[in-house]
Amino acid sequence: MKLWDKFLFTDLVQGLLTTFRQQHPKDIVTEQYPAERPAIAERYRGAPRLNVDVETNETLCIGCNLCALACPENLIVVTTIRNAETKKKELTTFTYDTSRCMFCGLCEDACPVDALELTQDFELASYTRDGAVWDRQMLEEGPKPTKYDF
Ligand code: SF4
Ligand code: SF4
Repeated sequence: MKLWDKFLFTDLVQGLLTTFRQQHPKDIVTEQYPAERPAIAERYRGAPRLNVDVETNETLCIGCNLCALACPENLIVVTTIRNAETKKKELTTFTYDTSRCMFCGLCEDACPVDALELTQDFELASYTRDGAVWDRQMLEEGPKPTKYDF
């Protein structure tokens, strides 16, 4: 390195020029989440949802327990009661521990009536462990992530 390069910090200036050249908005690849929503892959498996009939708002779940049996993590718990008149099982509670889920999709594949579905919602964070355990209401309504104004 030449002596005047040391005094003029030539290397430093060249380095800064290289840095600033890369800071043009068209070169920024970082997604500005949450202001910008990421594009989710078509087959992404995210937040679980317990589907309801769109007209009657009744659950599609028939309480067969197949999803719970298919889950390798045993994180789904389904409880039902037998309707004395119709003799059919009726869903009472449904819990799903998202903190233990590996989103393999075996549960939704096992469901014979497409009641359980892994959606493209990806905002599952909660401040507590208990918040990761979703009950039937949460599963039917879906996550409600905080919306920010920018
Ligand atoms: S996605 Fe896999 S790990 Fe998660 S609840 Fe379903 S079967 Fe269990
Ligand atoms: S497999 Fe489907 S219908 Fe059966 S308990 Fe699970 S969500 Fe309900």
